Amino acid sequence: MTGKVVLVGSGPGGLGLMAVRAQEAIAEAEVILYDQLPGDEILATLPESAEKIDCGKHGGDHTLEQDEIEALMVEKALEGKNVVRLKGGDSFLFGRGGEEMETLRAHGIAVEVVPGITSAIAVPESVGIPVTHRKFASQVTIITGHEDPTKGESALDWQFLGRTRGTIVVLMGVKNLGKIAEALVGNGRDPATPVAVIERGMRPDQRVTVGPLAEIAAIARAQGVRPPAVIVIGEVVGLYDGTPVYKP
Ligand code: SAH
Repeated sequence: MTGKVVLVGSGPGGLGLMAVRAQEAIAEAEVILYDQLPGDEILATLPESAEKIDCGKHGGDHTLEQDEIEALMVEKALEGKNVVRLKGGDSFLFGRGGEEMETLRAHGIAVEVVPGITSAIAVPESVGIPVTHRKFASQVTIITGHEDPTKGESALDWQFLGRTRGTIVVLMGVKNLGKIAEALVGNGRDPATPVAVIERGMRPDQRVTVGPLAEIAAIARAQGVRPPAVIVIGEVVGLYDGTPVYKP
């Protein structure tokens, strides 16, 4: 019989923020394909009995490509195994879970999804920044920062992003932070808009760096900011005051 694949989002932090169904699916899994983003606390709980495949580091330094990961999932499920694909946050937000679901469906393999709490909302929240607020932001846009806005055809609408009100949350944006800030200001966003860069959110070594949009890239560079980080742009960042509101 063909096995099934459970696409599990582990949430943004430790075990406490992972769904009960996610923990069950992991306990039942015969094969677990995982990334590093779920973090040590969760990765340490993967069952001894399961075959565990690190998709970030495989066969030395080789990182598995997306098509290799999908091929492995298909192969294991067709062998009749119960497979879990485990990633940080939610699998369907910049997690390629949608593509994996399509591939599995194309092979007639049953798919179950277990939503995870996404870092896009939870990481700002964990430092006291709500992504919406009646006074400051009635809309929020979540974008990938992976794209270089200065390079040709962007899949992002920078004109819209520059003039949109409300909050912009950038994932995978550390490397391009300067270009993103320039593209926003160049398209009309107030250069004084407050920005928070939250590194390793909800982990013991979390760090928050704040500054105005026009200067945040230089500040982040001077502070040696590194991925993974969630970048929040908008007036809601004004609510950040450093008081702890989340217990890792
Ligand atoms: N599917 C994930 C996002 C995957 S993209 C989710 O829903 O959260 C990977 C990016 O997510 C990272 O580059 C970073 O921008 C962000 N990210 C995820 N977890 C994070 C954390 N604990 N702290 C800071 N950034 C995080």
